[in-house]
Amino acid sequence: MYYDKESIEVLLRLILELCGEDAVKVVKVLLNEAEANDDTLAEKSGMRLNQVRRVLYDLLDKQLVVYKRDVDKERGYYIYTWSLNREGLREIIRERKRLVLARLKERLQYEEQNMFFACPNGCIKRMTFDKAMEQQFKCPLCGSMLQNFDNSKILNKLRLKIESLERDLAHR
Ligand SMILES: [Zn+2]
Repeated sequence: MYYDKESIEVLLRLILELCGEDAVKVVKVLLNEAEANDDTLAEKSGMRLNQVRRVLYDLLDKQLVVYKRDVDKERGYYIYTWSLNREGLREIIRERKRLVLARLKERLQYEEQNMFFACPNGCIKRMTFDKAMEQQFKCPLCGSMLQNFDNSKILNKLRLKIESLERDLAHR
């Protein structure tokens, strides 16, 4: 399984949020090894076996890893070989993108529905129409008349981001 650098960063951030630091250590090993059993994971992550197992069950519960089970014939017990759940990971990354998209749309709506004002001397970066009216359109710091703030660049940026995310999410 191959991940580019950016996906790995997104992935590790998500794992940290969802399952914590120990899970990040385990997932890093799985990214390098493709698959590994409990012992290898413990050794390579520098964690205790029971710690690793706890993390693995958490990851399994969240459908981020899969395992296959083999019998160790010599010793007569099961060996679990773990790997990352490609589908599961893809789904959480998509879920994250959908969340970001929803936030961007809210932000866009806010930018579209508001008029903004700013101080020409830069004391106040931006305030909404209502706030500016409360101040009688004067800067509360220097007393200059507030000027209309042009948010068209912000609007363009937001629209482009939204478009690109929507395109991305349309591809399965
Ligand atoms: Zn001012």
